Amino acid sequence: MTASRVLVLNSGSSSVKYQLLQMADESRLASGVVERIGEEGGVADHTEALRKVSAELAGRGLGLDSPELAAVGHRVVHGGTRFTEPTLVTDDVLAGIEQLVPLAPLHNPANLTGIKVARELRPDLPQVAVFDTAFHATIPEAAARYAIDTATADRYGIRRYGFHGTSHAYVSRATADLLGEDPADLNVIVLHLGNGASASAVRGGVCVDTSMGLTPLEGLVMGTRSGDIDPAVIIHLARTGGLGTDEIDDLLNKRSGLLGLCGANDMREIGRRMAEDDPRAQLAFDVYVHRLRRYVGAFTAVLGRVDALAFTAGVGENSAAVRAAALRDLDGLGMVVDPVRNAVRGSGARLISAASSRVAIAVVPTDEELEIARDAYALARDTEASAGHTRSSARDPHRPTRDPHPPASDQQAPTPGAHP
Ligand code: ADP
Repeated sequence: MTASRVLVLNSGSSSVKYQLLQMADESRLASGVVERIGEEGGVADHTEALRKVSAELAGRGLGLDSPELAAVGHRVVHGGTRFTEPTLVTDDVLAGIEQLVPLAPLHNPANLTGIKVARELRPDLPQVAVFDTAFHATIPEAAARYAIDTATADRYGIRRYGFHGTSHAYVSRATADLLGEDPADLNVIVLHLGNGASASAVRGGVCVDTSMGLTPLEGLVMGTRSGDIDPAVIIHLARTGGLGTDEIDDLLNKRSGLLGLCGANDMREIGRRMAEDDPRAQLAFDVYVHRLRRYVGAFTAVLGRVDALAFTAGVGENSAAVRAAALRDLDGLGMVVDPVRNAVRGSGARLISAASSRVAIAVVPTDEELEIARDAYALARDTEASAGHTRSSARDPHRPTRDPHPPASDQQAPTPGAHP
């Protein structure tokens, strides 16, 4: 195929982020964001937002009508148990994403609108959906199942799906690249610490466990989300506090985590306040780090042998304090951070482990857009090669073939009540 540009769209509820990449050298030709969709001072809706994206690109001589464009890659948050690979969009696929709205009521509708509008603008182009859950589809049943009544779980689609999969996939492979190893030979723990945060355990390039669950609420302490709590807290708040489901949803997703503990969700501000001996900021940091260490220990046991551990996303890439505290005194697990390497600020992938560390410890900047672009480009080329077929499994040769477990609850649309 001669066309070698890919447009990546991340259509959120109130913004559309875009990047245009040249796949020949994986360079970025343009990027931007249209914000405040449906808000005062912003554009009216997603259709207008995408028209604005299109106009911005055209203004730079990179219009969507360009024959250079090979595909559009769309980030889609929830793929359920059906979408375990990047998928060429068809009417049937759109219907499938729609069916998953109860599991991701804030995200999937916005993602869908983005796809539909892009399709209208360029009906001739392959539109590829890349799912945030897909990388975790290989997690074995023992890790994916919650220990609740199986019939109830299946009826409502309740299981651990995991999120940030595009980042975990990219970073686990980039860590192998940094070490000059084949991903198939490496066991990696990835700590994606952004505003949302998740950990994953990747064995030989295949994800075997992750900290997020049915929704992104489970697991690590995040900017505004609680992560793991005793589920009886919810019952207690409802029974004793009289709180409704929407209030509890709001509390756990938007007013908890670092924000709930100390009033700030930005690790930079927490660092500044800790330097001034602010006890609430210190407590928030300590709770955050304690949870992180628990997951490092848990995923070490899940993997049995850990070769590398990678920190990524805003906090992981920038906070030397979090990295040092997360792995302090873990030489028993073979993890020793070099304080000098850890303190050096840098932009690329780099090692921060001491010479004595058995586990390679790395800081690896994530690049979800590049990962989506690669997936979309591979599928577009593949589709062209097997013209007439709508789907093929030939993909990036560096990737392991996934072997998703057969879900009992496959296409069941869960009830809205199943979502926080
Ligand atoms: P998102 O999950 O929204 O994509 P990011 O991965 O960009 O978020 O991470 C954002 C978070 O990264 C901020 O809320 C902040 O806590 C943290 N962060 C960014 N820069 C720094 C820094 N220099 N030091 C510590 N934390 C940082």
